[in-house]
Amino acid sequence: MKAIDWNQVPSPSYIVDERLLTRNLEILKSVQDRTGCDILLALKGFSMFSTFPLAKQFLKGITSSSLFEARLGYEEFGKEVHAYAPAYAEHEIDEYLKYVDHIVFNSFDQLNKYKEKVQSLDKHVSIGLRVNPGYSEVETELYDPCALNSRLGIPFEQFRPDELDGVEGIHFHAMCEQNSDVLERIIPHFEEKYGPYLHQMKWVNFGGGHHITRPDYDVDKLVNIINYIKEKYDVHVILEPGEAIALNTGYLVTTVLDVVKNGMEIAILDTSATCHMPDVLEMPYRPQIIGASTPNDKAHTYRLGGMTCLAGDVIGDYSFDAPLKAGDKIVFTDMAHYTMVKNHMFNGVNLPSICLYNEEEGVKVIRQFGYEDYRNRLS
Ligand SMILES: *Cc1c(COP(=O)(O)O)cnc(C)c1O
Repeated sequence: MKAIDWNQVPSPSYIVDERLLTRNLEILKSVQDRTGCDILLALKGFSMFSTFPLAKQFLKGITSSSLFEARLGYEEFGKEVHAYAPAYAEHEIDEYLKYVDHIVFNSFDQLNKYKEKVQSLDKHVSIGLRVNPGYSEVETELYDPCALNSRLGIPFEQFRPDELDGVEGIHFHAMCEQNSDVLERIIPHFEEKYGPYLHQMKWVNFGGGHHITRPDYDVDKLVNIINYIKEKYDVHVILEPGEAIALNTGYLVTTVLDVVKNGMEIAILDTSATCHMPDVLEMPYRPQIIGASTPNDKAHTYRLGGMTCLAGDVIGDYSFDAPLKAGDKIVFTDMAHYTMVKNHMFNGVNLPSICLYNEEEGVKVIRQFGYEDYRNRLS
């Protein structure tokens, strides 16, 4: 595969490699082909709509968790639009319903509040309920939808089997960056509680968090689970991963602005952990850098810091073969998902440009940001 010339990319930039995205989409399509399931792109994780013309060739549609995501999916993706939100606001529901094909409610009260409105539309919108299967293996509490006292999904004690009239599907989402063995262990908990009601449903949605495109992911196991549920309950199965679509498809290209010293060498980059890769601080995790290693593994170790005034705006400590100097490029890998959708302009720091790469056209700068974008969200 031809290498991207990082010097052709403005700094800082997110750049998505269409070759890598296509590879992920082919894997996801193979799961659809082998099971008849539908796979949706969860926009929460990846909303780079310049890739939608490519993604829509492989996926069934999108899922949204807000009105704006639903509208973006409707206008830019244009296939099926699904929605789930912890609650829908009265002043938003009418516009929401213009965009969606499926709507999933998080409580019986929300279902009962909006059911008639949904059923009186001049198109069919399929109604679902999100349940809490009461079992998950997510270690970071921030990302565990089944943590103690979670507000996400109806717990079984609150489930009202006599109020399922008009409900066509059941939705659960209990995973985060996990393999199909975790799904295999969730399914019995889900079936034990909600299995009896699944027979009367048209569809079941297994949510997101399936790391399907990760090299060690067991796709055959996923296929078996989907086919088992589909046949046992005669339901259509839906998956809605976000991360799996864009996993390992993009980079954040940055530049060293200065090197300072305080007990160790510290490089200041033209990016920011908090603004441009907030999960590095929230999750937290250590991103990979092309050509760099763990501290002291290579000859020259640096702490990499961002350009904001936040003391903790630090990406981590890394070692390099050669000393860093102003102007050097630092390329972070796996920066397509949960970056562009989460970034912000704290401290007045500009957003990275958004670029695409393919072999025919090379680097395409899709979008650059400026002062107007900063000013427009303030007043
Ligand atoms: C976040 C989320 C997803 C997507 O999760 P990924 O980890 O990006 O695959 C799907 N469905 C729901 C309800 C979510 O909250």
